[in-house]
Amino acid sequence: MADLTITFLGTGTSQGVPMIACDCPVCLSDDPRDKRLRSSIYVETPEAAWVVDTGPEFRLQCLRERVRRLDAVVYTHAHTDHVMGFDDLRRFCEGERWLPIYAGAETLADLKRIFFFAFNGENLFPGYVKPTPKIVAPYESFQIGATTLTPLPLKHGRSVVYGYLLEREGRALAAYLSDCKEVPDAVVERIRGVDVLIVDALRHREHPTHMNITEALELAARVCPGATWFTHLCHELAHAETEASLPTGVRIAYDGLRLEL
Ligand SMILES: [Zn+2]
Ligand SMILES: [Zn+2]
Ligand SMILES: [Zn+2]
Repeated sequence: MADLTITFLGTGTSQGVPMIACDCPVCLSDDPRDKRLRSSIYVETPEAAWVVDTGPEFRLQCLRERVRRLDAVVYTHAHTDHVMGFDDLRRFCEGERWLPIYAGAETLADLKRIFFFAFNGENLFPGYVKPTPKIVAPYESFQIGATTLTPLPLKHGRSVVYGYLLEREGRALAAYLSDCKEVPDAVVERIRGVDVLIVDALRHREHPTHMNITEALELAARVCPGATWFTHLCHELAHAETEASLPTGVRIAYDGLRLEL
């Protein structure tokens, strides 16, 4: 087994691809890589496994990838496309198992508001989600098993959200920056030369809260990773055509893709 395996549970933007009631070529495409559930990754190491975000299709994603083990959940932010599968975490809480939930203070406050029944301490029934909140802060690293995770503050519209750097034995294996418009210099310094950069690249046109392909390529040039994978993609990007237009070392992620690091 690799030291750390990342499986893309979803690579789509908030509406998913295909979008409801859209007849564009990508939404009608036969290429399975053009079917994108909401963005999330599943991370496995020999001693622990966790997800980053639980979008609305979390249950279907777990079934598709046969996810059986979950020791923690890590959140980037509380937009609905990243949290709405939260209630399906209950399957991983059976047998009085409490699940550590790592998130920034604002995101945890949002989770407590949306899923109050899981956090208010009054519903300790078997079969309910049993979350143990763990507040994380910018650049304050924490451990899941032998992996060190470092929250990276990113500008995503008006909010500051977290990307995460994953390191093992001092090696910077992956940086996951799923939703962002601006990446501060301090974050670039922290992740420079990482083996794998996974980053928001919504579409070709500009967007107020997400990077487009040009901005994501500029970021990759600043970070100088071993490889770059674009995620959080909308229906304006056809997988094959877009990937063919990218420089060497930059790829388009797709649902079900596994990276062994
Ligand atoms: Zn999103
Ligand atoms: Zn479409
Ligand atoms: Zn978002």
